[in-house]
Amino acid sequence: MNILVQGGRVVDPAAGTDEIRDIYVSDGRITTADDFHADRIIDAAGMTIIPGLIDAHCHLREPGFEYREDIVSGTRSAAKGGFTTVACMPNTSPVVDNTAVVEFIVNKAREKGYCRVLPIGAATKGQKGKELAEIGLMSEAGIVAISDDGSPIERADMMRKAMLYANQFDLKVISHCEEMSIAEGHMNEGIVSLELGLRGIPAVAEEIMVSRDIILAEYLKLPIHLAHLSTARSIDMVRQAKARGVKVTCETCPHYFTLTEEACRGFNTMAKMNPPLRPEADRQAIIAGLADGTIDIIATDHAPHHSDEKDLEFGLANNGIVGFETAFALGYTWLVRGGHLSLAELLSKMTSGPAALFGLGEQKLEPGYPADLVIADLDTSYVFDRDKIAGKARNTPYHGFELFGRVLTTIQGGKIRYEA
Ligand SMILES: [Zn+2]
Ligand SMILES: [Zn+2]
Repeated sequence: MNILVQGGRVVDPAAGTDEIRDIYVSDGRITTADDFHADRIIDAAGMTIIPGLIDAHCHLREPGFEYREDIVSGTRSAAKGGFTTVACMPNTSPVVDNTAVVEFIVNKAREKGYCRVLPIGAATKGQKGKELAEIGLMSEAGIVAISDDGSPIERADMMRKAMLYANQFDLKVISHCEEMSIAEGHMNEGIVSLELGLRGIPAVAEEIMVSRDIILAEYLKLPIHLAHLSTARSIDMVRQAKARGVKVTCETCPHYFTLTEEACRGFNTMAKMNPPLRPEADRQAIIAGLADGTIDIIATDHAPHHSDEKDLEFGLANNGIVGFETAFALGYTWLVRGGHLSLAELLSKMTSGPAALFGLGEQKLEPGYPADLVIADLDTSYVFDRDKIAGKARNTPYHGFELFGRVLTTIQGGKIRYEA
């Protein structure tokens, strides 16, 4: 189908452009006006056209936990949030530690998915931290990185092996930074946990592992990517390491720049996540890290759970929230409208940042490139309603929030994958 997207403001950070123009889509790619016959014309006057978003970190839960989410429902939710590519973590059942599971995900997503899915392979067999997974074979089958996310790689020697081995296949290790011996708790350790009588997880549980991973990366002269950073000291360590030339990159998630530990009051399990929400000073440090380029990527860490796993007392509820359908709007509302980042800077953290992590190459809204693009309304606010989520799960702390940056249409590979 040939699609003409007419009259929108096209913001393309990779091309460095911001202008009102038409976009012609044919045969899965962006093309020129020459000899173009439109089957469908989308009036985008007053709207903004941005590149399709790439999520560097999500959990699609298939195989094994389809009662929470599956590849079809997860990618449908991703497309509704403006994502055209998502990278999914391997902590499924079975774990993505061999080619059969990688191929299952790739094929299912290609046949039934609403966006491109890039599997991340486990670093160790069963994510148990004892021996390396089939990294080379999984690389041939299509994984784009390795990680034991959900858990840390606890032993430094295993992390070293994973980094050395992954590097042979041009893959990066994504580290879930958590020092387990000090991480047992339900929310951030501090005044609020004390007042609520909940056992706390101290910031140092994250920071000790961040420091170990940076030291290893510096010693081995190899890259490391740090997932979902949440504390001021983590960001500071990455900032200093980058200044020394260490090949460290990192991501944060929208919840760490929009919410604080205060959201846990009332024993709100929708605010329970790992790493936990932190105090205001950390939230400010995350924003500063995004603004000065220390933080490369905004990822969702989309973590769907069944309501039975959240409608529990705080200590028993699962960690995590869904993120696809709020990520761009939270970034736009808090960071761009908040005056911390330009729209192009926000977009680069949700497009070229993750593309560089996975070695995906450049994506531009210009003729010849794949037609992965989003039409968004940046000027009209809307109230986020969790009952309208396109995925299976409803575990979000943002129900009822007034947001800007609603996705109206998502086109991926030249096909309309979502339309409001
Ligand atoms: Zn994690
Ligand atoms: Zn995760």
